[in-house]
Amino acid sequence: MQKCYKIEEIKMAVQKAKSEKHSVGFVPTMGALHKGHISLIEAAKKDCGFVIVSIFVNPTQFEPGSDFDRYPRTLENDFEICKAAGTDAVFVPSVEEMYQQQQLSWINVEKISELLCGASRKGHFKGVATVCAKLFNIIQADKAFFGQKDAQQLAVIKRMVSDLNIPLEIIGCPTIREIDGLAMSSRNKYLLPNERKAAPLIYASLQLAEVLIKGGETDITVIKQQVEKIISNSSLITPEYIEFVDPDTMESLTTVGKRTLIAIAANLGKARLIDNLLVSS
Ligand code: AMP
Repeated sequence: MQKCYKIEEIKMAVQKAKSEKHSVGFVPTMGALHKGHISLIEAAKKDCGFVIVSIFVNPTQFEPGSDFDRYPRTLENDFEICKAAGTDAVFVPSVEEMYQQQQLSWINVEKISELLCGASRKGHFKGVATVCAKLFNIIQADKAFFGQKDAQQLAVIKRMVSDLNIPLEIIGCPTIREIDGLAMSSRNKYLLPNERKAAPLIYASLQLAEVLIKGGETDITVIKQQVEKIISNSSLITPEYIEFVDPDTMESLTTVGKRTLIAIAANLGKARLIDNLLVSS
C-alpha cells in the first residue's frame, strides 16, 4: 500500500493506475477508522480496480470551539486497517498541503446545507463540500463512496456533483452498527460508560418509527412523539433535532412520504451523535 503525503504523489499514483486500465475508487475519511470506514473500502474494492483512502481532518468544516483539536487521530492504526481492507494508496495530506494559499473559493450547496446539522453547525457543509471538491479534483476517481450514516453530507455531495457536473459517481453505503445498534462513529470514543449504555436508544427510537410507518401510521406528529418517548428514557441524551425529511433535499415532510428519512442529532456528554433511518412505504 502506497502512502502519499503530497498532492503530486497521489496524482502520480492515480495516473499509473489509470494507465494500467484500472477504475479508481475513492473513500474520503477523517481517520480514526472503524468498521464503518472498512465497509466503504470493501465496497470500493469490490467495484474498482484501484482504491484510494484519504485521511484528512479538515479544519474548515469544524466551527470555532468545536472538537478539531481533540478529534481522535490514530494514523498508524489507520494505515494497518487500510492495508488489511485492500487499499491500494492512502492520501494523507497536511493542512498546509491541502490549503496552500488562503482559500478564497468556497462551495455552498444552498438549502440542503442550511437544514438539520447545518442549522447549528454554521459553515460545516461549506467546509465539507469545498474539501470534497478539492479532493475530487486532485484524485479524479471514477467513483467515491460515502456512508448513509451521514445522510445530509451524502445529499450535499450528491447535489454538488450533479449541479457542478463533476465527472464522478457517488455511491451511498449502509450504516454499520455496533451489536446493540449504536451507529459506529469516531466520536463514540467521547462517550463515558453510562453514556455509551444509553446511546443505543437513538437507534431503538428510529426502529420504532420504522415499525409505526410500516404499520401504516402516516402522521409524523404521532410518530415523533413515540420517538421522543423512547429517547427520554435516558436523561443523558439531549436531542438537538428529530426530523422527518425528504432524503434528497432534507426538507421537512408533513406526512410520511414514499421515502422518509428520519434523522436525529443528540448530545450525550461531550459527544454529539447523529443517526438516521431511511424508510420506504
Ligand atoms: P468520517 O471519517 O467520520 O468523516 O467518515 C468518513 C466516511 O465514513 C463518511 O462517508 C461517513 O459517512 C462514513 N461512515 C462513518 N461512520 C460510518 C458507519 N457507521 N457506517 C458506514 N459509513 C460510515
